[in-house]
Amino acid sequence: MRIDIITCLPKLLESPFSDSILKRAIAKGLVTVNVIDLRTYSTDKHKSVDDYAYGGGAGMVMMIEPIDRCLTELKSKQEYDEVIYMSPDGEHLTQSIANELSLKKSIIILCGHYKGVDERVREHLITREISIGDYVLSGGELAAAVVADSVIRLLPGVLSDETSALSDSFQDGLVAPPVYTRPAEYKGWKVPEILLSGHEAKIEEWRHGQAIERTRKMRPGLLQ
Ligand code: SAH
Repeated sequence: MRIDIITCLPKLLESPFSDSILKRAIAKGLVTVNVIDLRTYSTDKHKSVDDYAYGGGAGMVMMIEPIDRCLTELKSKQEYDEVIYMSPDGEHLTQSIANELSLKKSIIILCGHYKGVDERVREHLITREISIGDYVLSGGELAAAVVADSVIRLLPGVLSDETSALSDSFQDGLVAPPVYTRPAEYKGWKVPEILLSGHEAKIEEWRHGQAIERTRKMRPGLLQ
């Protein structure tokens, strides 16, 4: 899979992809992540990508021109399945959207900044808008990293234990059951006896029961 992320602050996207699971996925060639500096596509000498808002008011707006130029160049080299704009008012990111995106060959993620992008970008240049929640971030970079992470860990071969992503929360419509590791007792707090029994079928049954109970408590909406 190929993920191209367009941003005016490329540095913000360095560390999320240079550690642990995402770093290994890239090293193994299972995904290519290109961070593209939008300022490269600015035509003025200050490399600016934003301007004052028509009609006045506080905050700068990202201009359509550099974005269009950047998208045109990317699209001239290859096809993309989606051009996603990160936006607080977009559709909420869910596990099912992550699953859907993980089946795509190549996507572009556009990060906004300041007051966001010129509305004509949203009207004409993108295919989808995704939000990571009902709160406002300073820019789309962290949100784009969240989307990319949720998608990349689903790609075959990324997680060493193939079943691991399948047993995560939301994947089967339930949240995950509780997990424990050594020691079996800490300050008198014990690991549930069943997990130490070695009885695989019973452990599976217990985990499923816990997942249902926890879903009822934490995300009752999932059970309807
Ligand atoms: N004025 C805008 C917010 C702009 S925030 C509004 O009120 O809706 C600047 C940029 O950060 C946005 O363009 C978007 O790309 C990103 N962003 C902020 N919050 C986000 C969220 N919850 N999910 C995804 N992207 C977000």
